[in-house]
Amino acid sequence: MSTNTASPLPPLEPPAPRGTNRGTTGPSPRPGIAMLPGYSRSAGKASVRWIASSNELPVPPSRAVQDAVAAAAADANRYPSLAGDNLVAAVAGRLGLEPGQVVAGAGSLALLQLLLTTYTGSGDEVIYAWRSYEAYPILVGVTGAAAVEVPLTSATRHDLNSMAAAITTATRAVIVCSPNNPTGTTIDHEELMDFLNRVPAQVLVILDEAYREFSLTEHDSTHLLKKYANLAVLRTFSKAYGLAGLRAGYLAASQDIAANLRRAAPPFPLSRVAEAAAIAAWNEPDATAQTISRIVDERRYLSAQLRSRGIEVPESGGNFVWIPAGDRALELEAACLAQSVSVRAFDREGVRITLGEHGATTAVLAAVDSMGAAVHTTSGTLCTLT
Ligand SMILES: *Cc1c(COP(=O)(O)O)cnc(C)c1O
Repeated sequence: MSTNTASPLPPLEPPAPRGTNRGTTGPSPRPGIAMLPGYSRSAGKASVRWIASSNELPVPPSRAVQDAVAAAAADANRYPSLAGDNLVAAVAGRLGLEPGQVVAGAGSLALLQLLLTTYTGSGDEVIYAWRSYEAYPILVGVTGAAAVEVPLTSATRHDLNSMAAAITTATRAVIVCSPNNPTGTTIDHEELMDFLNRVPAQVLVILDEAYREFSLTEHDSTHLLKKYANLAVLRTFSKAYGLAGLRAGYLAASQDIAANLRRAAPPFPLSRVAEAAAIAAWNEPDATAQTISRIVDERRYLSAQLRSRGIEVPESGGNFVWIPAGDRALELEAACLAQSVSVRAFDREGVRITLGEHGATTAVLAAVDSMGAAVHTTSGTLCTLT
């Protein structure tokens, strides 16, 4: 027990009157925080045979990656490098960038949040397509900026004309997602350059390429950094590299953007273990290419099977396929669960199926078939299962 007899410090300010704090007497977050939507969780994951709901790889990390993890864990009493320096050097070396252009983070979501909090805030506008990644409205909301959502085209692609037209003097950033989660549609190189040519130089363009490795494009968008100083490219080790559970990603941008992000970021963004695993995975390009090739084969198969049933599946560049089930999205999710495969449903929009195991693909097709014959509808843009 304390023997200190000094009188307690007086409060700096009188406490807020009761009832002004959303009915509690605890601290209040900044305006808007309490209204943010939560991240969705996939239903029934624990009890199913196949997990096809979170765009993860179905296979554990390679032996080399697991060995790197074990070795790094043995030094866990030591701080990691200040800014993921070894991973930054490896990534910059392979991509032909200056290390000063690459920023490593605990997943690309952490880097997206860093970008948004560094470059946007209250009074600003941030444009992104919708439907797209569910993190965007949340992370934009955290900054206090206003979200400007531009609907996808009827083919579930980014409407880059409308996105460019939505830019105002208040716009500080535009997020483009290619391949788009959850529809899988990609933005091709010419389209992207045409868009970048129309965005004012002071507006940040954030290109989220979480799934780029599955799109088999020969263009590497980081080459565009030479021409566009307002571009930031986000990539991750969670998807094609299969390290979702360890949290590692990187960003490539101008030296100026990267320097500002380093100023704003807390030090030691990656754990020692995550950095070592990411480097080990980065150094196995052949194994990564094999995994990708298997998943792309699965994508071709499932897309063709669904199309042969009359379902208009958009061409996907990701490790997932979008079924535009419309009003029957939740019903299709339940039918998939009945076949012991978890998927991600977006109510009244569609269902996203992660590719990986052939058994999961077969189970999804059985679920589709259990709902009856699929036909085209003329009522709207989405093909509806009937
Ligand atoms: C999965 C995903 C990410 C990756 O997030 P991490 O934080 O790197 O795991 C980023 N963007 C999109 C669109 C995604 O689907």
